[in-house]
Amino acid sequence: MIVVALDGPSGAGKSSTSKGVALRAGWNYLDTGALYRAVAFLALEIKSDDTNDILAALAVKRITFNADPKKPEIFLADRNISEEIRTLNVTNKVSQIAANPEIRAELLKLQRSIIGKAERGIVVEGRDIGTVVSPDAALKVYLTADIDARTMRRENELNEVAITTEDVALSLTSRDELDSSRKASPLVMASDAVHVDSTELTLEETIERVWELLVERSLLGLPIVAILGRPNVGKSTLINRFIGRREAIVEDTPGVTRDRVQYECEWGGRRFIVMDTGGWESKPDGISVAISAGAELAMEEADILAFVVDAQVGALDEDDVMVQELRKAKKPTILIANKVDGDHDEADAHALWNLGLGEPHFVSGLHGRGSGDLLDTIVNSLPEVGRAQTQDGYRRIALIGRPNVGKSSLLNALAGENRSIVDDVAGTTRDPVDSLIEIGGQVWRFVDTAGIKKRANQASGTDYYATLRTQTALERSECVALVLDASVPISEQDLRIISMVEESGKAMVLVLNKWDLVDEDRREKLEKELDRHLGHIEWVQRVNVAAKTGWHRDRLAPALRTALSSWEKRVPTSKLNSFLGALIGATPPPVRGGKQPKVYYATQAGIAPPKFVVFSSGWIEPSYRRFIERRLREEFGFPGTPVQVAVRVKERDKE
Ligand code: C5P
Repeated sequence: MIVVALDGPSGAGKSSTSKGVALRAGWNYLDTGALYRAVAFLALEIKSDDTNDILAALAVKRITFNADPKKPEIFLADRNISEEIRTLNVTNKVSQIAANPEIRAELLKLQRSIIGKAERGIVVEGRDIGTVVSPDAALKVYLTADIDARTMRRENELNEVAITTEDVALSLTSRDELDSSRKASPLVMASDAVHVDSTELTLEETIERVWELLVERSLLGLPIVAILGRPNVGKSTLINRFIGRREAIVEDTPGVTRDRVQYECEWGGRRFIVMDTGGWESKPDGISVAISAGAELAMEEADILAFVVDAQVGALDEDDVMVQELRKAKKPTILIANKVDGDHDEADAHALWNLGLGEPHFVSGLHGRGSGDLLDTIVNSLPEVGRAQTQDGYRRIALIGRPNVGKSSLLNALAGENRSIVDDVAGTTRDPVDSLIEIGGQVWRFVDTAGIKKRANQASGTDYYATLRTQTALERSECVALVLDASVPISEQDLRIISMVEESGKAMVLVLNKWDLVDEDRREKLEKELDRHLGHIEWVQRVNVAAKTGWHRDRLAPALRTALSSWEKRVPTSKLNSFLGALIGATPPPVRGGKQPKVYYATQAGIAPPKFVVFSSGWIEPSYRRFIERRLREEFGFPGTPVQVAVRVKERDKE
């Protein structure tokens, strides 16, 4: 179950954003402010400020919250007080109530029980969700907006006539003041929260910002496509086509247990899971067949059912058994006619319309004929959020480096006393290869650590597989801890790995291990080597450690946090453009072919890593592009992450 914590000052748009995100994801929604308001309402009703009186009244008249984002409602006993808690009286009272530690403790229990009941995910908004209520939340967002924007939004919400703009602004600032200065869980941003400034964003854009974080951190379930069909219809060959890389799949032999094996695919920018299923079992009578329990389960778990028929053989009686099951499942179904290797087969395959599952999609898993069209069809019918298991929200770190740089000892040093939770845990769709380790007050997922243990004493000659494994670990991670042995010269192999990491576009921290073996002389040499080989990525943070003694092992977590927050950082368009305007005014781009290219504006096209697009009237020198990147870094700071700057020439200026 995924918890998203949305904290921030009042009027920043928490409620609308949270509801919007929850609605889109099909999750629950909890407005914790409403709970505090309900208690304030109760205090006003019983006309008492005494904590014991309030708690006693609360024990009798319980608060319940309907966590449906379509219609969130709050009840005191049986009474719907959703409207009444929004009045000025309640608003003026609520800060005092919220500063009371005993009331907070009581509401903490209530909040956790509501969160605990959520099914797949819940977006919880409030002042202390990321810090106190759900410190383990999979995603924490700290939403702010400047006071003018917040005042305007609040004014539009309020229907009270006799209230002036100044009053609204004053009410907001004084509540912020009280919320931030109180002793009991004051309003602060959690250290691992992403700051989103909504001042210049519409509601849709704000929701989109949170959504892109959910997508990028794999917190939304991927859609599952179950591949169903008799043995020998070529399901495995087809799946190999889909996944593009060669994963050994046991050939289609009846009885081989490889039920519901999952593979991740990507097509046209959409990621999804294909689920290979076991096919058929003979019934006890030994004559008839039924679909296997595995196939049945797969049909239940999947979002889309792809039924594969061998077009060269045509539909058999056994296929009819499946067709009936498919109809019962009432899920989007795609009929695939496989082994259509040529036009002749295609003519025959038209008979498959008779199955009553709609248009058969002709494909040759073996030769690839039609597989692009088929993937298009599949991708177009995928739901935005699917039923696959999601990541747990722990940040994914790849520990990368050539053998013998001390990755295993580093892992052990990091785990330290927390060894108990160091355990190989299963990835969503892969072997158990990850380790969860708590460092610096946060649990991290170190990906593919099983490989680390093995690689330590691996013989050479397996270089190809080591590279492949590194590549996969890089793909799965968000941030790389790149480990070098500081005591020996940087080698060719180190350099190859460094360029792989650079190409991956992931955040990075450079870990210089074996510092205990570095003397004055080596240190000087190392500085020169780093200058020479890593000078072009001067944004990377360096952490010197000695895994053997544990020296400086506490330095890694803060560096990872900084790198990840840079990786996901967004610069508001207006800030970006006032920066760009000043920059171009002071240093215009170089003249080319007698023409001075004009730079119009820039926008941040994406995160993870941050990507900027600069629109101009003509070609701009790479050196000037690098200059923009350098100044961007100086101005906004992106320690630990690559930053991409692309220049796009506006159409109308093209000759
Ligand atoms: O979000 P809303 O304006 O409804 O919250 C009302 C008040 O409840 C806030 O000003 C704050 O004092 C308090 N509150 C809190 N912790 C939360 C949610 C709300 O202290 N998690």
